[in-house]
Amino acid sequence: MSMENKTALKTLKFDTVETPMSRKNLGNSLGCVRCRAKVNEKKAKWVHVIAGGGEVLHPSDEKNYVADGGDLGGYPVGPECAKFFGEFAK
Ligand SMILES: [Zn+2]
Repeated sequence: MSMENKTALKTLKFDTVETPMSRKNLGNSLGCVRCRAKVNEKKAKWVHVIAGGGEVLHPSDEKNYVADGGDLGGYPVGPECAKFFGEFAK
């Protein structure tokens, strides 16, 4: 968890990972932001990616976040990666 932001937002840094399901992302689906597996966007949990990527904002800090050039918006995550993101995914 990063506390580097001057407003002390709750964030979580992540690296992309390769799994057997990576790249099996068909059509126009965004795929999971962490492993790029295909996800059902209607059922998926979502994370708010900030800082130009590789970092997500905790949902409870949405109200404190001031969007800047590094705000990439919402991305879906697959079920396995939802476990990784925990309460950062909703
Ligand atoms: Zn994933």
